[in-house]
Amino acid sequence: MRVDLHTHSTASDGRLTPVELCERALAVGVDLLALTDHDTCAGFLSVTDADDGAERKGPRPFRGTAMRLIAGVEYSCQWHGVGLHVLGLGIDPGHAASRAALAMLGQARQERAAIIGERLAKLGIAGAAAGAAAIAGAGQVGRPHFAQFLVDRGVVRTMNEAFDRYLGAGKRGDVKTGWPELPQVVDWVCRAGGVAVLAHPLKYRLTATRLKRVVGEFRDMGGEGLEVVSGRQTGEATAQLGRLCRQFELAASTGSDFHQPGAFSANVGEAGLLPPDCRPVWERWLS
Ligand code: MN
Ligand code: MN
Ligand code: MN
Repeated sequence: MRVDLHTHSTASDGRLTPVELCERALAVGVDLLALTDHDTCAGFLSVTDADDGAERKGPRPFRGTAMRLIAGVEYSCQWHGVGLHVLGLGIDPGHAASRAALAMLGQARQERAAIIGERLAKLGIAGAAAGAAAIAGAGQVGRPHFAQFLVDRGVVRTMNEAFDRYLGAGKRGDVKTGWPELPQVVDWVCRAGGVAVLAHPLKYRLTATRLKRVVGEFRDMGGEGLEVVSGRQTGEATAQLGRLCRQFELAASTGSDFHQPGAFSANVGEAGLLPPDCRPVWERWLS
């Protein structure tokens, strides 16, 4: 059973179209795939037939193949001023809670992009908001599009440098205004019939004490899962998150967080195995 419950397409900041992403997943033998674009389900909806008769929030076959797709979204939110990502897995994208949430976040992204553009303009870099929007195309605009713009303009040499100097945590382009609070996002996911999973818990660089605090609060709000494996990570990280998962009696998820093919990050389907004593979050979708 090959599972990948965290992937991005051109509907947000991924490089492959939703169809290309699914075909690549199929080619490497993925059985269960979740498309989890940032704050949108447009990619998932574009590769599934709305009238395929399947239960709206359950897994659906990908174009007559054995691979099954789960609707997902990677919600941006904040917790005590820290930007967090929550995966809503198995949600019904057509539910009123999902529609309202995605509309609000689309708006927040537009507003945030304008603010980032203004801040970069004050640093002497003109036209960033329009440039990032052009790179995003029809997809949701995000900081990686700004990073690409800065590389294309020759302001920085690499995407990493763009984050280190302009867009990363604490830099001028790190704008968190407009993101909903954590309980709001968990509520949207639960109401839409999905499972809320705290994404890549080690990426927020929280102290061990704060990490436990956010995981405990997340569970008390109705959060059900922890992303125990995210892309290529050390065995030590997997073991640490596995312990946290068991301590709080949460289900465990695994995902590549795939954005683009390349040697430096996990490929689609390259989502590591969970520690044996973790309860997989996808058990509920196996029949
Ligand atoms: Mn991304
Ligand atoms: Mn993320
Ligand atoms: Mn992601």
